[in-house]
Amino acid sequence: MDIHRTKSDMRATRAGLARDGATIGLVPTMGFLHGGHMALVERARAECDRVVVSIFVNPTQFGPGEDYEAYPRDTDRDLAMLRDAGVDAVFLPDAAEIYPEDAETVVEPARLSRILIGRLRPGHFAGVATIVTKLFNIVGPDAAFFGEKDYQQLRVIRRVARDLDMPVRVEGVEIVREADGLAMSSRNVRLSEDHRRAAPVLHAALEVGRAAIEAGEGVTAAGERVRRRLEEARDAQVQSVDLRDAATLQPLRGTPDRAVVMLLAVRFGDVLLIDNMVAIPKEAA
Ligand code: AMP
Repeated sequence: MDIHRTKSDMRATRAGLARDGATIGLVPTMGFLHGGHMALVERARAECDRVVVSIFVNPTQFGPGEDYEAYPRDTDRDLAMLRDAGVDAVFLPDAAEIYPEDAETVVEPARLSRILIGRLRPGHFAGVATIVTKLFNIVGPDAAFFGEKDYQQLRVIRRVARDLDMPVRVEGVEIVREADGLAMSSRNVRLSEDHRRAAPVLHAALEVGRAAIEAGEGVTAAGERVRRRLEEARDAQVQSVDLRDAATLQPLRGTPDRAVVMLLAVRFGDVLLIDNMVAIPKEAA
């Protein structure tokens, strides 16, 4: 497995990997890998001839006072996991390699990046869309793999790739969960013991919402059920509960006749957890 810390090395390796028309799959990550990341790697291996994983904790997608410094890191363990999974190359740059001091160009879908999580974390999706654009330009993948866990992020990246005619297929991979329902996340290790025990409430609340939508309940009532279920957990600070059109992320009213995505953001102490689930109402089934 090749490990590259510079863009020029990564580009040179890319050219070698793509010899004889081999296809390249890219899995962008911020490291501290878990089963969710490895599911993306598996999919990339199944669909592409060569797999490149990037590990970069991207400073521009963290707001002031967010957890950039505290974000968990363990590069040696990450590299061992990727080696075991048969990854061909890892791109492991530092921030100075990625961002020239006078960098000023930003990629941002004007509307999609400012709703939902984009309102909670201003500038976050501009940071995400810009780094993903740069990674696409550096690695030149045929396909790139992202988790449905970050539902809005996946939609943002698909919009950017389409709007800017990027020659990359953007693939979504289902959420991987712990046995108790908690969506795997690098941030889970930052939860206290009590908060870790309480955190599966996100999944439990989503199940409540799904049952309500499937039973024909309206979005307002279903959303209230979800919120009440979340509030049963001690210390859960509910940041947002949004039920939206699963395809467009636009608000819905009344009894939905199309797939609904339920998007949650809940804080435990200083750890922000997000989760989501799609529910198909009877009307649309
Ligand atoms: P991150 O390292 O948190 O930036 O995540 C890198 C990629 O892994 C993103 O595309 C995430 O959506 C995806 N991912 C993170 N957690 C999960 C999970 N539990 N299930 C599926 N994909 C995930």
